[in-house]
Amino acid sequence: MPLQHPHHGHRTGPRPRDIEVNPVFSREPLRVPRHTLPRGEMEPETAYQLIHDELMLDGNARLNLATFVSTWGEPQALRLMAECADKNMIDKDEYPQTAELEERCVHMLARLWHAPAPEHAVGCSTTGSSEAAMLGGLALKRRWQHRRRAAGAPAGRPNLVMGANVQVCWEKFADYFEVEPRYVPLEGDRYHLGPAEAVERCDENTIGVVTVLGSTFDGSYEPVSAVAAALDDLQQRTGLDIPVHVDAASGGFVAPFLDPGLVWDFRLPRVASVNASGHKYGLVMPGVGWALWRDADALPEDLVLHVNYLGGDMPTFALNFSRPGAQVVAQYYTFLRLGFEGYRRVQQTCRDVATRLAAEIARLGPFDLVTDGSELPVLAFRVREGIGAFTVFDVSAALRERGWLVPAYTFPANRTDLAVLRVVVRNGFSHDLAGLFLDDLRRVLPRLEKQGRPQRSRDDAGAFAHGAETHNPREPGRR
Ligand SMILES: *Cc1c(COP(=O)(O)O)cnc(C)c1O
Repeated sequence: MPLQHPHHGHRTGPRPRDIEVNPVFSREPLRVPRHTLPRGEMEPETAYQLIHDELMLDGNARLNLATFVSTWGEPQALRLMAECADKNMIDKDEYPQTAELEERCVHMLARLWHAPAPEHAVGCSTTGSSEAAMLGGLALKRRWQHRRRAAGAPAGRPNLVMGANVQVCWEKFADYFEVEPRYVPLEGDRYHLGPAEAVERCDENTIGVVTVLGSTFDGSYEPVSAVAAALDDLQQRTGLDIPVHVDAASGGFVAPFLDPGLVWDFRLPRVASVNASGHKYGLVMPGVGWALWRDADALPEDLVLHVNYLGGDMPTFALNFSRPGAQVVAQYYTFLRLGFEGYRRVQQTCRDVATRLAAEIARLGPFDLVTDGSELPVLAFRVREGIGAFTVFDVSAALRERGWLVPAYTFPANRTDLAVLRVVVRNGFSHDLAGLFLDDLRRVLPRLEKQGRPQRSRDDAGAFAHGAETHNPREPGRR
């Protein structure tokens, strides 16, 4: 069984039967084992058609308002990706031009994120923000260990300060790399990290503070510069010098284009590293993220390993060894193709659609906005207080009948009482589609009002909130 907890699988019961193929192909075999390697071969066309047909049961990406990840690519980008299907990113000696394109992307991002000396910024592509976050966290941990050891102080109990709203990758980082996570709970209308609350949890064992540019839960920007200023103040008072890592998985490709005046990046001397997902608002198909450090000092040299078994001397800082180069090439293509102005137009359109949709939803009556799409093009809304007939979980289920995937979930501690619906507006979710979505939302409301009391609870919620759903370890009753 693939990694699926027996009680949480969305398909229940064993499914021992073979796949029975309708005799449309008039070819053997008409039965294919489901869970054992077939004994013999089959025609490529038959294998292709079998898999193609089964995959038609996957969802329609255009109606998926849950994911942050790109579901559309230009034909030319897809063509380049197909041409690069055999390129291994690690093999920089064999594929020097692919490696060169990766370097160019790193330099473009270093400039976009205002590294003080962009030619000295260091960075790499990754499989996504999760891997990039691991690398950012590891660099913080190693720097802290070096500082502690140099000072003759114990280096055995590192901690990392962050909001309870961080994406699940930070919970993984803390767990896998044995760093104590110090989650700042949400309070009242503060749905993400607050500067004073972050500083309160810092001590000599704090390896860094993670701030999120674009919270997964509601799309709001965390106040990165205020957190940095509070840490400046802490350093003045106590001497503790605690770096900041910005998890800009989404915002790293939104804020530079739409909010050029917002200071969240390497313009803040305290920001040591930044990660972003090329496959979210970076507009590339799944499989690419970026990790950048402001300069070589921010990335301890002893984390970079050197291998020679592919020929040449290859410095590598990554969790994976082999991985596809196609996404990196597609990222470079997208940078060339759109340029600054193209990205700006795409993201501005997303923001326009998101803010318009939010305003319309607020006018429907039964909903209150938690966010209005004016930071990330993401909106979160709740069922208004006093409405007893239905919950956000009923709304999510009703929309699903029309094909829309809109996740409903509760916020982390201390706002586990707050349940929201979230819409992520991505490239391709047009004003037209938003209008259709709104029509469907309007259409389900009278029926929900008539049902008298809620029919669905959080236990019925689908597992499609993309990092905002089930992890919640900061909730009572869970680890
Ligand atoms: C999506 C996301 C991640 C994880 O990124 P992947 O690219 O999916 O690995 C981390 N942090 C935030 C804030 C995210 O939105």
